[in-house]
Amino acid sequence: MEITSAAFVISNTDVAKLPEANKPEYAFIGRSNVGKSSLINMLCNRNKLAKISGTPGKTQLINHFLINENWYLVDLPGYGYAKISKKERNKWHGFTYQYLKNRQNLMGVFVLIDSRIPAQKIDLEFMEWLGAKEIPFVIVFTKTDKKESKDIQKQINEYEKEMLTTWEYMPKYFWTSAVTKIGRNELLHFIHETNEVF
Ligand code: GDP
Repeated sequence: MEITSAAFVISNTDVAKLPEANKPEYAFIGRSNVGKSSLINMLCNRNKLAKISGTPGKTQLINHFLINENWYLVDLPGYGYAKISKKERNKWHGFTYQYLKNRQNLMGVFVLIDSRIPAQKIDLEFMEWLGAKEIPFVIVFTKTDKKESKDIQKQINEYEKEMLTTWEYMPKYFWTSAVTKIGRNELLHFIHETNEVF
């Protein structure tokens, strides 16, 4: 699949105001600074569709983009940024979790993980929560250009080992880089195939 159009639709914190759930939808989420905005821009071939965050954790909104006029890409607020207040965090949990649990056209969540760092509790717990709620997700390892492939592979093997302590199998995953664009075709192909079953 190639991206022929990508348009911002709406930003909000109110799940009642989301666009009508009449198209397949994919949500992107991860810890602040994981490279989410860069990945979204890379996928859409646009420099500034998603903002590359100056201040991590700043965007506390659910952002909808309409792609090729037939599916939604959703940029969810990053989690795990220590400097936001407890009140902010609770607010984040409130609407993000409500969105994830109730969005009927949500075909999958892309959980972004920095390929250079060992498994973090916050990501593992988030994926466990998705599993418990039966929300389908895949893992996207980001910034794979920052290390040699063999080191990234080693890191991913370690990640898999960690996942297999709680999961029966390793969820589907992708290697990506916003710099080299590795993983772009694979990810778009996955979305294309999933769109077919909507
Ligand atoms: P977000 O907070 O998750 O949206 O992360 P950003 O997309 O704003 O990226 C955080 C930082 O990592 C920025 O300085 C980006 O330029 C950098 N970055 C993001 N993706 C990549 C990547 O694939 N490769 C490299 N080398 N740097 C990246």
